[in-house]
Amino acid sequence: MSLPHAEAIPHLNAEKVFAGLSDYQRALSSHMDWLRNWYSAVLNSDDAPVPSSDLADCAFTQWLNGADSSLIGGFAGFADLGAMHAEVHETAERITARVQAGQTVTTSDYETMMALVLAFGTAAQNLEREVWRTLATVDPLTGLGNRQTMMTQLIGERDRAIRLGQPCCIGLADIDHFKRINDTFGHSTGDRVLRAVAECLRGAVRPYDILYRFGGEEFLVCLPAASLEAGGLVLERMRAAVEGLAIEDKAGRPVHVTATFGITLLSADLSVEESLDQADTALYQGKVNGRNQVSVFSQNEEPSGS
Ligand code: GH3
Ligand code: MG
Ligand code: MG
Repeated sequence: MSLPHAEAIPHLNAEKVFAGLSDYQRALSSHMDWLRNWYSAVLNSDDAPVPSSDLADCAFTQWLNGADSSLIGGFAGFADLGAMHAEVHETAERITARVQAGQTVTTSDYETMMALVLAFGTAAQNLEREVWRTLATVDPLTGLGNRQTMMTQLIGERDRAIRLGQPCCIGLADIDHFKRINDTFGHSTGDRVLRAVAECLRGAVRPYDILYRFGGEEFLVCLPAASLEAGGLVLERMRAAVEGLAIEDKAGRPVHVTATFGITLLSADLSVEESLDQADTALYQGKVNGRNQVSVFSQNEEPSGS
């Protein structure tokens, strides 16, 4: 039986997800304020008016309907949460109608309401935890997997390749003369280039390949079930895609970019760190040989010393 590959990290626009989370928390707390007021008005049989339970009036509904899809679209749990939220309001409306008709609110009404409120609260908390957990696995600028996630997943991919007797390549990409891009166009254009390259690399890999931001202007791709030859072809496609990228700075000036790639195989004889060193050595050789190329690790190469 073959085990699933390391899961590709969901594509998140981390900045938007962060912003969405704070709107979500505000909307949730507004819903809780309504709930507190509603409970207190229903429980105290004084003449205080019972606040409207209309679903459409709740800030949480308004948030759900208008929220940026980066957060809601990335997590299926928000649809369930919306349904639970609606049920809380519908039940509150039913109870309010009884109160207003002078009828007694039964223990069972309160228990039903309490169960729904608790389930909604727990689901909201769990969902928020899931979003934070996912955010901790991605690089905020590019939305690719971050380095911590990479190490865990590469160790798993190495074990898997050994068990199945399949090859597994890793490729390290480094943008050429990136410092010049920052110096010429400014840091924010540098960031824009990093995002564009990340997106371009994402489009050039196979669905089961996994991309990470290795650091600064370096990316790592893991190519399961790929021999060095097959992996080299994938990297060549990625290299050509980066070279063909049409990026502009904010003023519309074209920013040309290339990248150099180093490739090696994960191996039963080496730790993941040692294989990463090999990919780095190959990459260094590619830089020495003129950049904008794919360089395959060979035992004869000198370590880069970096
Ligand atoms: P080479 O072709 O040899 O790789 O040259 P290089 O200029 O790309 O290499 P170097 O390592 O000297 O420069 C990398 C630069 O990347 C330096 C650093 O300021 C920049 N950098 C690292 N992280 C970020 C980032 O998140 N945003 C931006 N804009 N720049 C970054
Ligand atoms: Mg670098
Ligand atoms: Mg570089």
